[in-house]
Amino acid sequence: MADAPGSWRVLVVEDELPVRELLRLHLGLAGFEVEETGDGREALERARDTPFDLVILDVMLPRLDGVSLCRALRARGANTATPILMVTARDAESDKVVGLESGADDYVTKPFGIRELLARVGALMRRHRRQADHGGGTARHVTAGRLRLDPDRREVTVRGQPVELTRQEFDLLHQLARQPGLVYSRAALLQKVWSDDVYVTERTVDSVISRLRKKIEHDPQDPELILTAWGVGYKFVDGE
Ligand code: CA
Repeated sequence: MADAPGSWRVLVVEDELPVRELLRLHLGLAGFEVEETGDGREALERARDTPFDLVILDVMLPRLDGVSLCRALRARGANTATPILMVTARDAESDKVVGLESGADDYVTKPFGIRELLARVGALMRRHRRQADHGGGTARHVTAGRLRLDPDRREVTVRGQPVELTRQEFDLLHQLARQPGLVYSRAALLQKVWSDDVYVTERTVDSVISRLRKKIEHDPQDPELILTAWGVGYKFVDGE
């Protein structure tokens, strides 16, 4: 990967000391300032008020497992939008999906090669920067009835009330809402919102849509904003 600016901070959460040392060494060489812990609960406490540029976390951790930790980081605190890379010993496809649905951006399975991991980190940071760039300056606000989306601040309000969205929820909503009425297939949404993630499936799109509807729709069973295009995919309501 390209060298990270020295100001980028990564939090490494891994209880296996040899793996943690490997990560510390190579992320340090890549230019990151590395903070580390082997304890899930301690990681959560540290990350509550301190924004990181990247979090790498193991799934199997003492006191608080990586999936719960990831959900907690996404729910509130200083790292709701920070890129998160999960590491696990398990190789089951379902575990990857659980990891990604908990809000992680990518997944690496142990034993991993350090080159592979650094390549994933590089891709993640590039994608994150791209999304940040797209959100900057000239991005258009979207208003549909009672929903308002501000791409610069990455804020969504419904009837003036702020709605907390994960990064994936926000990106998916923004993708749909910037082109009202345009039908996106699940595959297109995967490509646009998750770009180079290889482990997400089209069901991931459905589950993020379902979470979004619970947060923004008056009646999630009878959605008025994110509409289903049967047999095809989804579209944002047009003609408000
Ligand atoms: Ca572990």
